[in-house]
Amino acid sequence: MDYQQILQDIEIEIQPLFGKGKVADYIPALADADAGQFAMSITLFDGSSYDVGASDTLFSIQSISKVFTFTMALKYLGSELYKRVGREPSGNPFNSLVQLEYENGIPRNPFINAGAIVITDTLITHYKNDTAAFDAIVDFIRSIADDESIRMNVVVAGSEMEHAYRNLALTNLMKSFGNIDNEAIKLVQTYFNHCALEMNTKMLSRSMLYLANHGVDPINNKAYVTKAQAKRINAVMLTCGHYDASGDFAFKVGVPGKSGVGGGIVAVIPQKMGICVWSPALNEQGNSLIGTKALELFTTKTGLSIF
Ligand code: GLN
Repeated sequence: MDYQQILQDIEIEIQPLFGKGKVADYIPALADADAGQFAMSITLFDGSSYDVGASDTLFSIQSISKVFTFTMALKYLGSELYKRVGREPSGNPFNSLVQLEYENGIPRNPFINAGAIVITDTLITHYKNDTAAFDAIVDFIRSIADDESIRMNVVVAGSEMEHAYRNLALTNLMKSFGNIDNEAIKLVQTYFNHCALEMNTKMLSRSMLYLANHGVDPINNKAYVTKAQAKRINAVMLTCGHYDASGDFAFKVGVPGKSGVGGGIVAVIPQKMGICVWSPALNEQGNSLIGTKALELFTTKTGLSIF
């Protein structure tokens, strides 16, 4: 298959969509992003990669980080984790509070904000403090992306903290039900810090390979999670990775994927490749509008989906 040609064709076909959607403006530091940007990368098991667009440009990974923190928590806690966070789609926006009230402070899944905050809470407890937990998250991401240069954007993290009202409300509500162990401000700051890590589509497509290969990096053979855990992470990505548009993403694209409000989407083609697409303008549910279309075109043109 001529992947380079396919990516170039996709880049042409998505052009009419520029101008549609809206960049995330509830985080002031993301509001100035140029909506005209686009990049797409795939990385295969032999390490070869194909890219189009601004594939070297760094952007904040935002909720894509939730895949990595979920992986770490599952590794340390195993199925005990599901006492603290569920694995069902929420059918609600990513920052919604409503279900927590009548579901005893247990978030529906690890990929909505409430679920990711609980996961970060378990990591702070595991690593004894917030700084050690954040350092471990960065180390893990550097390892799976095989890139030591990955850093946090302090301006983005600070900007989120200044407008943290909703995430603090989620945290405090869960704490009132006894589902948060650590101090709310430090916890939410740690969560924002991992959301504010910056990567590009090349690094992120590379970072998906362990999920495409049963938990083992196919390039350097490092084992991160068990085969069963990798299966479950992929399943939760498929059913919950795009919030209340997860069904639509499965319908149109048909692979496990996870979006972030920075405009990135990662996707996994089992036994074949990791993918990342980035374009900052979002659809109504907070997922990259052009990114979703590009992935739909990719699975349609290649015939590669899990279905
Ligand atoms: N840091 C963002 C927030 O908490 C992440 C949301 C997202 O990417 N969907 O609002």
